[in-house]
Amino acid sequence: MNLLTEAWIPVQHAGLPEKITLQQLLCGEKIGELCLPRDDMEFACLQLLVALTQVLFTPADKKALVQRMQKPLTLEEYVNGCEGKIDWFDLSHSETPFMQFRGVKAKEPTPMDKLMAGVADGTNKAFVNPQGLASGLCSSCVAIALYNTAYNCPSMGGGFKSGMRGSTPITVLIEAEDLRQTLWFNVLTAESLSREMPWYEDTLAQTPGYVSGLVKDSKITASSIGLTSGLFWQPARFELMPAQAASACSCCGQQGDVYTGFNKEKFNYTISGVWPHPLSARTFVIKKGEREEKFPSFTTTQPSWVHLAKLVVEMQQEKEGYHPVPVVGQLKRLGARRLDLMVGGYRNNQATVLERRHEMFSLAKGWDQQPEIIDELVRTAQEYKKSLRKALYIFSEGIKDRFAGSGVNLTESYDVLFYQQTENLIHNALSYINFEQPKNDLDKLYSSLKAVVLRLFNQATEPYQQEPKMLKALASSRRLLHKYLNELEAQGGSHESAKSA
Ligand SMILES: [Zn+2]
Repeated sequence: MNLLTEAWIPVQHAGLPEKITLQQLLCGEKIGELCLPRDDMEFACLQLLVALTQVLFTPADKKALVQRMQKPLTLEEYVNGCEGKIDWFDLSHSETPFMQFRGVKAKEPTPMDKLMAGVADGTNKAFVNPQGLASGLCSSCVAIALYNTAYNCPSMGGGFKSGMRGSTPITVLIEAEDLRQTLWFNVLTAESLSREMPWYEDTLAQTPGYVSGLVKDSKITASSIGLTSGLFWQPARFELMPAQAASACSCCGQQGDVYTGFNKEKFNYTISGVWPHPLSARTFVIKKGEREEKFPSFTTTQPSWVHLAKLVVEMQQEKEGYHPVPVVGQLKRLGARRLDLMVGGYRNNQATVLERRHEMFSLAKGWDQQPEIIDELVRTAQEYKKSLRKALYIFSEGIKDRFAGSGVNLTESYDVLFYQQTENLIHNALSYINFEQPKNDLDKLYSSLKAVVLRLFNQATEPYQQEPKMLKALASSRRLLHKYLNELEAQGGSHESAKSA
């Protein structure tokens, strides 16, 4: 199957599922929304579509991009964009199969479910993934799974490399009116690319990594990796076994030939530095005068909003900072509009996927003028959680020589409750906040957060209210909580200073 010429994009239009071609989508001949039984596969499919559009049809500048957003490609433009590149995107090409290498040696083939993140992991996954989900995949699902494995998943374990953004990075995509427009909102212009990667023009002639091949144990610098190579980087050596005779795809259900296994082999190389992926933010610390960058990922159970400022705000302090997702930075330069974001990624423990995340965020109009408000909101909301945590800690531990605590540490479970009970408040505040004059909206949010904190504190300490032995601990921790909350309220004017800075 060839991704540039054949119908592989799983969409649904007016309730009917079908597979359409990239040409039909980009030339506006067919419409529909992506439709797969797993949110992570849908998200990976969108990433793959964006990467194809980016590499084949990079708009020169802002004007060209705006035109693309408004008007579908002509057939001639589509054909010109694909010229010379069709062989790169053929799943069963005899020499350079899509996201694979030929001649991969393995003792025995790996079953297909290893290519579907989460399915092969032992614990609890039966709830999330119906059994047999990846026993055979159609060529469309297998192309998406290969791309997902290369960019979003933990490595296959010992000796296998993880993707070029490291294990399980957070990916951010902008959502627009429909699928075709969404692709263009996530494509960088040549102008933006030169800004993100100054070596962009010089590396235009590069082909995908799996086409040009990689030398074993080679040492590569991120600044030598061009756009095409970076967006189609296969970190592992995989080769699909030939497809088997007709049966139903265990992911999308389509009847046809299915892939049931692949060969994989260990292959080592190193990349120094960080490649500026268009759909990823980067955080950095400055150590001994050197800037060390990395991609944020979901490392804890904290909700996604905790990471939001890193994803959309440019921040540089003396020793640390963050650089927003390049496509979000580009939209900021294009001019104000409401921003709808899709944020996705896995949380892992080494090769095991613990959790899938796929969330939507809306940022009200004006976010691009005052992005530091987002930073302040996220920080302050976390301070409210910390004040609850600190008060509950004192309540459970007591203070030496003054009073004994309950001995029951509730901080972790109440962190979880705080996040559960404030998630909607935060999402709502972000989507309606008046970024030009945020004070009222922020005050409203903070007083709601304060009410949640007080309610949770009462809930946690309620069973001890009648115990004479606990009266001191109760009074002291409550006094501390009020002190923390008052301090936070006193800082409430900080958005004024943020604004003028
Ligand atoms: Zn399928």
